[in-house]
Amino acid sequence: MDECIFCKIAKKEIPAKVVYEDEKILAFDDINPQAPVHVLLIPKKHYASLNEIPEEKIDLLGHLMLKARQTARDKGIKESGYRIVLNTAGDSGQDVFHIHLHVLGGRRMKWPPG
Ligand code: 5GP
Ligand code: ZN
Repeated sequence: MDECIFCKIAKKEIPAKVVYEDEKILAFDDINPQAPVHVLLIPKKHYASLNEIPEEKIDLLGHLMLKARQTARDKGIKESGYRIVLNTAGDSGQDVFHIHLHVLGGRRMKWPPG
């Protein structure tokens, strides 16, 4: 997707504070953090949201989830606790239509979410 901001970040056409990268995924600090730790994890390949991930991409979802845990560990919040958010489509408030996991922590989270 040529105009997708996260595709541009994946291709290094837009700068980001990368915290983890491999051949499939990229993790980088959110530009507008909602907690002391706020990292986004994306697949390098474009999928608009969870709704567009094919069933056979189950490994990609598992990979993102385990690397989210690793990111929490690397940021020092694995034991204190963290929240993983995957906003999907309209009512969720998804703004960027390139699937991404949020990893949030470093402060006490509220429930229910807003
Ligand atoms: P959503 O609401 O789609 O789940 O979350 C999108 C997130 O992407 C927001 O937290 C927003 O701050 C972040 N974001 C949007 N544009 C950029 C950008 O250009 N760089 C980075 N690092 N984060 C971005
Ligand atoms: Zn994209």
